[in-house]
Amino acid sequence: MRINVARSSMPPFEEYCEEIRPLWESRWLTNSGEKSLALEAALAAYLDAPEVVLFSNGHLALEAAIRAMGLAGEVITTPFTFASTTHALVRCGCVPVFADVRESDLTMDPALAERLITPRTTAILPVHVYGNYCDVEALRAVADRHGLPVLYDAAHAFGATLGGRGAAAFGDASMFSFHATKVFHTIEGGAIACHDAALADRLRLERNFGITGPETAVSVGGNAKLNEFQAAMGLCNLRHLQDEIVKRRAVCAAYRQRLSGVPGLRLLPAGEGCNCAYFPVLLEGFRFSRDEAFAALARHDIYARKYFYPLTSALACYEGQFDPGRTPVALRASEHVLTLPLYADLSFSDVNRICDILLG
Ligand SMILES: *Cc1c(COP(=O)(O)O)cnc(C)c1O
Repeated sequence: MRINVARSSMPPFEEYCEEIRPLWESRWLTNSGEKSLALEAALAAYLDAPEVVLFSNGHLALEAAIRAMGLAGEVITTPFTFASTTHALVRCGCVPVFADVRESDLTMDPALAERLITPRTTAILPVHVYGNYCDVEALRAVADRHGLPVLYDAAHAFGATLGGRGAAAFGDASMFSFHATKVFHTIEGGAIACHDAALADRLRLERNFGITGPETAVSVGGNAKLNEFQAAMGLCNLRHLQDEIVKRRAVCAAYRQRLSGVPGLRLLPAGEGCNCAYFPVLLEGFRFSRDEAFAALARHDIYARKYFYPLTSALACYEGQFDPGRTPVALRASEHVLTLPLYADLSFSDVNRICDILLG
């Protein structure tokens, strides 16, 4: 049977049916209905931020945050990410300036980021990678020295904790993705969690045409609302989240047992509060190159993912605009990394089969 890199978690069917039953009575299907209000409140508590604004997906949430925070000119960011992070900046008229990542966890290097700050810089947009946090304190210090806001792409960090704090405790705002393949999902969906009520108000305007009343629009907002059926899926999945993470931890532990200490294979450290969102391995000087390992697994109908590859600065749509060679650590990681299949009910026998294929 085919094994994909991810498999969506599903709540019990009856639980979801119960959750959506009231929608047949109220017929309130979108526009901040009871399910999405309940989900926003639950997420604010869980993520450790006073304000959570839900969106139809993580990408539009990020674009809304860039606009609502008034970012323009240059934004310091990382190329070791999903296309969304860089595209959001470019689509909002900002110029991404790429800082290299740290070898240890592939998150933005704060010292290198600081060197790229110019009078045109308006913010820092780092990415928490694979459920491991950036050096949030060092980034805060850099941002404060230069009076810049920090907007995190926290799409990988949902369910991860750092020093007992939730995933949105750091920075001015954090974007989360609730796409079907993430640790927690609403089928499609996303959110911005932030610490400023005025920013949350502007985000809600971005989400719903800038409308403040039946006859007024005060800003040129778009439409990026999460509907009630998606919010209901989120309320169900949230009840099972801890179980989901515990099961993922067990799968990761099984991989680690087989793959740690193997020459030519580097495993990234998973911090104490890691959510086990991904299981990346870096293959350098191993019996297989990364691409060979990918192909060997694919021959057995097992689909790992070259993630993140290529760097966003090397995407075809940006040809000639950026030089991926200026972030050598990120470039090298992108050429050697493979994320292995990981989901809550991936069986130990499948983990062993995957490791057998890799180790030969
Ligand atoms: C998933 C993801 C996004 C985009 O989220 P969507 O909800 O799919 O729009 C952005 N950044 C990162 C790092 C992601 O993993």
